[in-house]
Amino acid sequence: MTTTQQEWNIKERGETCQGCSKHFDDEEPFYSRLDFGAEGYTRRDYCAVCWTDSARRAALSTWKSVYKMPPPPEPEPLQKETAESLLRKLMEGEDPAKLNTIYILAVMLERKRILAEQDVQIREDGAKVRVYEHRKTGETFIITDPGLKLTELTSVQAEVVAMLGGGANGAATGEPPPDQPPPASPER
Ligand SMILES: [Zn+2]
Repeated sequence: MTTTQQEWNIKERGETCQGCSKHFDDEEPFYSRLDFGAEGYTRRDYCAVCWTDSARRAALSTWKSVYKMPPPPEPEPLQKETAESLLRKLMEGEDPAKLNTIYILAVMLERKRILAEQDVQIREDGAKVRVYEHRKTGETFIITDPGLKLTELTSVQAEVVAMLGGGANGAATGEPPPDQPPPASPER
């Protein structure tokens, strides 16, 4: 476990209750808790029966959602980088320099109604953590809010647009992205 893994994380929705091991039904309401400890983030999901006072005690964050049967996998257009694919790639990359970019991408995806903000928490170490849920897959995206200033926001947004393939006109503005070059296209 590196420290960067504690800054952001994707946690999959459980398919079964942590208490009674029952598989969730389609459209069944269920409850989740998020914890932050020495081993990083852990997420646990519970059915309504098992969601007792002791099940939710001392959680970093708790929320309720509705279980949706996963849709059959869609053929993925691998060539096209989207805000979502870029966010997932960066979150796997563990590059601390991408903290701001990751945050902006999460905000973009919330505006596009792909992610829904579930909670905002201040961790014991003072970090502000935003908990998003993917509306389709039920995954939890744990994003540290870097507290960007307005001036920083503009340059990070420009970097994100460049990583997503630039503006509609395609022509580079002459300014290279301030950080890394855009990621190479996926290898086959
Ligand atoms: Zn249960």
